[in-house]
Parts: sequence; structure tokens; C-alpha cells
Amino acid sequence: TTNGHTDSYAKTEIIKEIDGNSSAINEKEDKEWTPLSWRTKPIRQGVVYDDQEHLQRVLNKLQHLPPMVTPSEIHRLRSQLRQVALNKAFLLQGGDCAELFEYCSQEPIESKLKVLLQMSLVLVWGSRIPVIRIARMAGQYAKPRSSPTEKVEGKEIISFRGDNINGYDPSDRKPDPERLLRAYFHSAATLNYVRSIIGSGFADLYRLSDWSLHHVRSDRTRQEYQTIVDRLTDSLDFMRMIGADSPSSPLNSVDLFMSHEGLLLDYEQCLTRLLPDPETGEKKWYNVGSHFLWVGDRTRQLDEAHVEYFRGIQNPIGIKVGPSMESNELQKLLDIINPNKEIGKVTLITRYGADQVEKYLPGHIQAVKASGHIVVWACDPMHGNTRQSSSGVKTRHFNSIIEELSKVIRIHKNNDSQMNGVHFELTGEAVTECIGGSMQLADADLALNYKTFCDPRLNYEQSLDVAFLIAKYHEK
Ligand code: PEP
Ligand code: MN
Repeated sequence: TTNGHTDSYAKTEIIKEIDGNSSAINEKEDKEWTPLSWRTKPIRQGVVYDDQEHLQRVLNKLQHLPPMVTPSEIHRLRSQLRQVALNKAFLLQGGDCAELFEYCSQEPIESKLKVLLQMSLVLVWGSRIPVIRIARMAGQYAKPRSSPTEKVEGKEIISFRGDNINGYDPSDRKPDPERLLRAYFHSAATLNYVRSIIGSGFADLYRLSDWSLHHVRSDRTRQEYQTIVDRLTDSLDFMRMIGADSPSSPLNSVDLFMSHEGLLLDYEQCLTRLLPDPETGEKKWYNVGSHFLWVGDRTRQLDEAHVEYFRGIQNPIGIKVGPSMESNELQKLLDIINPNKEIGKVTLITRYGADQVEKYLPGHIQAVKASGHIVVWACDPMHGNTRQSSSGVKTRHFNSIIEELSKVIRIHKNNDSQMNGVHFELTGEAVTECIGGSMQLADADLALNYKTFCDPRLNYEQSLDVAFLIAKYHEK
């Protein structure tokens, strides 16, 4: 699936564009890397646009738009992830599988922040260490697809590839460069609102008395959750009493970082800027479109375009690791992405499936140990556990998600390692996309409010269920 990206028009035009920076590029140790060097490599999941001039106009515009995040924020996250890798903090990453432009609206943004904050509060309580929160948000638009086309109402049409490429509506499947600009502005508007409400104080979102546990069907589980909530309430009251929730405390000024899969390199390249390292003043390349980017399980080939792009930026990087990853491939990948072996620069997001994790994770842990890299180990218990429901829609069973999580915790322990974080697809809304959880959603319930355009997400209650279960696990 290589494509028109390596067309010479694009290379020469964009090299001309960034020519002003060429002296800085030459000063870099690695002379070969530039924000565009990925164009010399084969690419998977690439996009071919009919109107190349239109694409070029869009890229030129994107390149002049201001950063959405700053190097100092990126370094702040890097130092926090270092703590995570050293087992001194825990990572919670979550959000939609695919954001749509229409999710850029007050309510969906607020409800996603609320669920992430509440989960993190439960996790802090359970693990007794700080929780670093990263949302899949403000740019999580492009999706890798297993097939370039799909059958819709009997007709074979181009697959939906995410709002920054084409439209979900079957009549709107042709890739449109204008959508890259719309992606920037929707990301910026989302981030702007997130910053506003964080800046306005988040303590209210922590208000525990608002947490309804009515959905929990089992008396025993509800009792257990209530115990955690009560004890959390006591701790928070105590902190308020002694003034530990003053404006400088983490309760009122929470950190929340943004992330997305760095799939659409046309876009990422334009948001890659040469800026001073806040500590040393030395100019380095930062992706200023998000704090954290990850490379997907389908696009992480050693000698191809995505890995070439990822090796050049200062942002902390996630790598999805599934059953097809070979141990020596993983070692080489770490050396390419993180040649200086910086602690916590790379987060390995493992996603094997509950019935496969025992086969692959121990080997991967051993390979990383042998490599000398110290990574963040995050468990994504979603992507290896996707199934067809009886009605033919994609779903995930809550039990498989919990099973993979608990196996990952145990396997790390047995291998003298530690699970440092979790990665979920979730939403703050009352969707019915995953089966099970304390509300015991059944197959037949999926039709009630199945809204995802991509993978099935945990709903608000299921997300809290997961957090409570992890907290309980830590408590033991
Ligand atoms: C995703 O996180 O939505 C995704 C596509 O994951 P993976 O690359 O692990 O399949
Ligand atoms: Mn997904």
C-alpha cells in the first residue's frame, strides 16, 4: 500500500518550504533525519489525494499555524513518564477509538474529562502513587484500516479512515485535503476548552457525592465500591480541612496531556517544529500538535515511514505491541526510537488479547530487560479482545478486558517487572458498545445506544468499574 507520498513534487516543494531551517538541520548529529525524511521510505496506510496542488496549499497553511502544545509541556510529561517507568507513578491513558469532528462540543469534552479524572482519583487511592493522565483526544482522528474498501449496502466503497481523511457518510469517502485543516482547528478548539476548564479548577469534578453507584447490579460489588468511595471522601475531606487542596495542590490544577496515533504523516510533519529545549536552549524537533504520539501496531515496521518519522521527535512516544512483534524486532525498534536509552521516553502499549498474553508478554519483558531500555509498560486490554456480537457488530467483553489486565499484572510480577499503566478506549457517555461490567450489559443491549464509528468503548460506568477493580487489586 505504498502511495503517492514519495512523488518528487512533494519532496522538493516542502524542502523549499523549510529551507530556512536547513542550517539547523545540518547541525543535528543525525544529518539524515528531517520532518520529511519519512517520504523516502515505503509507507503503510498512506493516503492518496487526487488534487496534489490542493494538498500542497493545505500543507503550506498548516505549517504556519501556531503550536498547540509547547516544548516545556512536552518535557514536563517526559519527566513524569520517567517517574512512571521507575514505578513511582502510574499512567492512565484513555479516550475514543476515533474522535469525530462533532465530538468537539462542550458536553462530550466535559464528560470525557470527568470520567478520566474520576478514574484517576480511584487509581491514586488504590496505588498510593501519582497518576499521570493522557487523553486520546484533540487529534485522535485518523484510523488504520485492515482493508482499503468495505461493503456498504451491497456496494464496495472506500473505507472510512477517520474525519481528517474522509467522511463517514458513504457519499463522502474520497480523501479531501481540506480535512487536514479542519483536524487542526477541531483539535485546537478541543484543547482550548480543556485548558479553560482545567484552569477554572477541577475540584468540582471530583465531587464524590455525585457518584451514583445505582447501575451496579450486584449488592456485594456495590458495597465494595461504596467502601472505596467512603474512604476516598474521608481522605479528601481531611485534605480540605488541613488546606492541602490549596490552589497549588494537584487537586485544583491537574495535569492532563493529549495524545493521538501519529498515523497521518502529512499532518504530523507540518506540526513538527524546530524549537529551543527549555532546559538547554538547544534547538530540537518537537511535534507541537500533541504532547504524546504513538505508532500503531500496523505501522511500526523498522525500515518504513512511520518509524522514520518517530525517531526524530522529542515527544514521548508510544509503541503498540501485539502478537506479531518479534523480540529482536522490539529491541531494534527501541534502539531506533530511543538511541540514548532515556528512561520513560518510550511507552510500550501491549495488546495481545486475554488468550494470547501469556504466550507473548514474558518474552517481550525479557527482551526489553536484555536491551537495557527502561520503558513504561502499559496494558491496552481493548485491542486484542474485539469480537463480533451475535448481531454482527464489533464488541468487547468486560470479562476479557479484566482477564487480560489481571494476567498482565501477574506476568509482570512473575518476571520481576511491573505494569506501569493502562490504556483504554472509553467515553463518558452511556453508550452500549462493550458487554458486561457491573451493570451486566448483554448482547441484546448493544442495540440500545451503539454509537461508535470505530471500536467499541467502555461507557462511563464500565470505565469506573475498571478503575475500582484495579484499585482493589492494588489494595491486596
Ligand atoms: C487504536 O489504538 O485504536 C489502534 C488502532 O490500536 P492498534 O494499533 O494497537 O491496533
Ligand atoms: Mn481502536
